[in-house]
Amino acid sequence: MQIITTIREMRKLRGTMSGSIGFIPTMGYLHEGHLSLVEQAKKENEHVVVSIFVNPKQFGPNEDFSRYPRDEQRDTELLKKAGVDVLFLPTVDEIYPEGFDTYVIVENISQVLEGEKRPGHFKGVATVVTKLFNIIQPDNAYFGQKDAQQVSVMKKMVTDLQFPIKIVVGITIREPNGLAKSSRNVYLTESEQKEAAVLFRSLQLALEKFQKGEKDSIKIKKEMKKLIQTTSGSIDYISIVDPETLKELDIIKKDTLISLAVYFGKTRLIDNIILH
Ligand code: AMP
Repeated sequence: MQIITTIREMRKLRGTMSGSIGFIPTMGYLHEGHLSLVEQAKKENEHVVVSIFVNPKQFGPNEDFSRYPRDEQRDTELLKKAGVDVLFLPTVDEIYPEGFDTYVIVENISQVLEGEKRPGHFKGVATVVTKLFNIIQPDNAYFGQKDAQQVSVMKKMVTDLQFPIKIVVGITIREPNGLAKSSRNVYLTESEQKEAAVLFRSLQLALEKFQKGEKDSIKIKKEMKKLIQTTSGSIDYISIVDPETLKELDIIKKDTLISLAVYFGKTRLIDNIILH
């Protein structure tokens, strides 16, 4: 595996690569969720490039940028073992040199849900992913369903800006108790990790109710809320939307996205499900 830290070197290497390139942008502290995207990319491309970059521009001023977990050595080993060809590992100054002043904003769908709770988050994501797409020029880019709104924003961005890149979505990888794998799970105490399985359980409950014929969003949200309130979790939002427009739906239809954010202590967890 080649480890590249500068844009200049990455471009040079890219110029020598022929055949399809699958790209997985990450913030590191890798887990099986990231590795399942790598595995999928390996199957579908001749080369796999992974980036690790904790992007300061997608964190709010009171968020966890400075304490976001990092372990470059472990990540490097995991990616080598997974058969990744290139690891792109730029510094913050490499990506945002002094005077950096150009941003990508995907209007509307970036302003609701996570975007409403985390102002500027998707501006940071869209900007860094645009830069990474320009540097790496992949054919396929892999994103996890775990971050459902990020997927919607990326799909809209590549369509609107005509990136010749396919957005491929990987399923959410979970702990045995249903808790979605996340680099941020290390912030949770052992008992919080157990309790946090309630996010998944509440989504399963919603699915069950839907399959039994319940279509009323308010009623489903109420049931989810009741279940979550049996734990120490504090609900930030529960939302039921069209996965493309992210508009709230009063009546649930096929292919509806139910997503939620819940705090355990200071740790904010998100999860979602698409009803089929
Ligand atoms: P992150 O490092 O958190 O920015 O995540 C990098 C990529 O991995 C994003 O596309 C995430 O959606 C995806 N990802 C994160 N957690 C999971 C998971 N549990 N299952 C599948 N994909 C995930």
